[in-house]
Amino acid sequence: MPDPKDIGETDYCNISCNSPYGKLSMRTVTVHGATLFEPKTGAISTPIYQSSTFRHPGLYETTGFDYSRGINPTRMELEKTIAILEHGKYGLAFATGMGAISSIIKLFKPGDHLVVSEDLYGGTYRLFNEYYARYGLSFSWVDTSDISMVEESLRPETRAIFIETPSNPMMKITDIRRCAEIIHKRGGILITDNTFLSPYYQNPLDLGSDLVVHSGTKYLAGHNDTLAGFVAHSRDDLADAMINSQKSEGASLSPFDAWLTLRGIKTLSVRMERHEKNARPIACWLREHKRVEKVFYTGFEDHPQYSLSRSQARGFGGMISFYLKDKADVPRLLKNVSLILFAESLGGVETLLTYPLVQTHGAIPEAMRLSAGVNDRLIRLSVGIEDAEDLIADLDNAFYKSE
Ligand SMILES: *Cc1c(COP(=O)(O)O)cnc(C)c1O
Repeated sequence: MPDPKDIGETDYCNISCNSPYGKLSMRTVTVHGATLFEPKTGAISTPIYQSSTFRHPGLYETTGFDYSRGINPTRMELEKTIAILEHGKYGLAFATGMGAISSIIKLFKPGDHLVVSEDLYGGTYRLFNEYYARYGLSFSWVDTSDISMVEESLRPETRAIFIETPSNPMMKITDIRRCAEIIHKRGGILITDNTFLSPYYQNPLDLGSDLVVHSGTKYLAGHNDTLAGFVAHSRDDLADAMINSQKSEGASLSPFDAWLTLRGIKTLSVRMERHEKNARPIACWLREHKRVEKVFYTGFEDHPQYSLSRSQARGFGGMISFYLKDKADVPRLLKNVSLILFAESLGGVETLLTYPLVQTHGAIPEAMRLSAGVNDRLIRLSVGIEDAEDLIADLDNAFYKSE
């Protein structure tokens, strides 16, 4: 591993991928996707096959494409690209991250139990607890960054562990390798939400995770203009079940949004490197600020799971959370930023400030929210790719106006 000081510098993230046109750097594969060009016309940009259905040449004959909820050529290019970037065999693209997670849950049946990170995206909590719990699934919400808590919450009927690492919004790190070992011993599967780091900085399948899920809305699409979700995996025994689940759930990604996401992915490497480069000085600046109590950023060497993070990820990404000292500063800061935008979401080129208590984590009951650390003084910052100095000046100005 290179020296932490070099993070963000050239070769830190030079990981390779097995693309159909060779074993190449992930930087190269993000640009070209699964197919260098469209063979029929030579089109370099994947054509948008805006067709819901496809003509059959004859009875029991097919071109390979029948109906776009099941399969569409534009979406297929994106699905293959995601599989390559996540070092998997299979990729599936959904209309949203929630659509992807919902399709995964269709793999389970009444009576099954899942261990889930307590500090995770609020929409996932709502989906599991308000909907799937009604259909006979049960969930234990635990601090998965503490592996002994994961072990203690296992039951005979536990079929999966579902983790987010780094977690949203407290930036805790869960040991992917250890979770995989624990659940594989009992024949279950590990599902990892890899939204926060993107495949550019972390590949959970290489560490033993069975399924990787993404909100493609975030870093993969990257421009705050498209909703998308993904699953990637290499499990032959789950391949048909996942395809059928996607087809039956009906949350398949549209051809146009698949194209937008393919276009976003072309710049994934440069964006991720800039997000990462920008986040560090902002995290350091916040940590020194007199109105800030604590900063949660996985790139700090005194982050409790810093070495674990270094052992399973290639970077720290662009997400920072922080506690303000005074709750009264929250509305002022959110109102006074001018360049930085107060909005839900993350992972886009524009820097966004989010207030998890009422936005991303509004669905989580108070006691659980507080136990995870999401209090009324917590702010989440998704650092964009603007100039870091300008972002710091905007925050500085907003703090100053708050006084
Ligand atoms: C946003 C998000 C989701 C949900 O994805 P959508 O595309 O909004 O449906 C799931 N997990 C994480 C970590 C997220 O940030």
